[in-house]
Amino acid sequence: MENEANKFIDFIITQKCTYRCKYCSQSKNQTLECNNATKETIQAFYKLLDNIEKDYEITITGGEAILHPDFFEIIEEIKNKGFKINLISNLSFKIETYQKIFNSLKENLNRFDISFHIDEIQNFNIMLEKLEEFILSKPATTKTSFFIPLYNIDTKKELKIDKILRIAKKYNISYSFQKIRFLNNYKEQYSEKYVSHHTKRKTFAKLCFAGCESAVIYENGNAYRCYSSRFNHSNFLGNINDVDFKLNDDAKACTNCSCNCPKPQLYNQICIEKDYLEALKETGKNIINLPKLILKNKEIVIAKIKQFLSF
Ligand code: SF4
Ligand code: SF4
Repeated sequence: MENEANKFIDFIITQKCTYRCKYCSQSKNQTLECNNATKETIQAFYKLLDNIEKDYEITITGGEAILHPDFFEIIEEIKNKGFKINLISNLSFKIETYQKIFNSLKENLNRFDISFHIDEIQNFNIMLEKLEEFILSKPATTKTSFFIPLYNIDTKKELKIDKILRIAKKYNISYSFQKIRFLNNYKEQYSEKYVSHHTKRKTFAKLCFAGCESAVIYENGNAYRCYSSRFNHSNFLGNINDVDFKLNDDAKACTNCSCNCPKPQLYNQICIEKDYLEALKETGKNIINLPKLILKNKEIVIAKIKQFLSF
């Protein structure tokens, strides 16, 4: 099947983060262990890069990817292999750290997006100054977008969001709001002011290139078709450290009722065509494997329950 979509691989090189957002999709507040990708997993990732076309966009992410002790070596190596790199940060590091990244990657830095977690920002005015410095010192070819999670919005927070949006407008930067989701449902209702660009789409049985032309790799080397796949047997692509890891050869039917992964939607990975037979067959396998996956990911399940109870 031919696809005009952009290809991408997201590599979560660390679970460590400078923040502890209450709504974190990785439940950092409740997760005891926040690990880094090991040297072995990073070498396996380099091998994967040697076997794919250079038109994949590589996103190095976390947690906060910069916290990985080998962060600068990793981005340098990916650049030397000829790939464009995407990064995302909560802007909690000194401006010099970001400038070091700009100097190291230059035009190989395709995107550098910023997420704003208002509750965690210690000094909001200093952060705004840093944001302007960030925008002015990034390479001219590097695109950027702002992501603003919406959690317990009150008047004080609205004023802060307005200040961020003023900067976005001043420099013509796109932004989107992220509504907090839990168990596939949005946690709160927001005013019309905060229109989210991301829509929940019904995707069961739709053919999707996620897993073939995109993948999400966790710090332990486990690779999946898309985010939220840990409890979906048919979305597991193997561990990049093992010989049985493989990207899918073609688009496959989605077994999720709806898609909450913004990136495959943005990158046109989801087709209109459906394959009900494959979707039902894979759903059957998912049901059989679910208890095993819950057991395998029991720490995540416990963290999610604790997070749910803490809201
Ligand atoms: S900044 Fe992102 S990764 Fe870190 S705790 Fe907040 S939501 Fe989670
Ligand atoms: S959940 Fe979304 S990205 Fe994942 S396989 Fe389904 S349609 Fe594709």
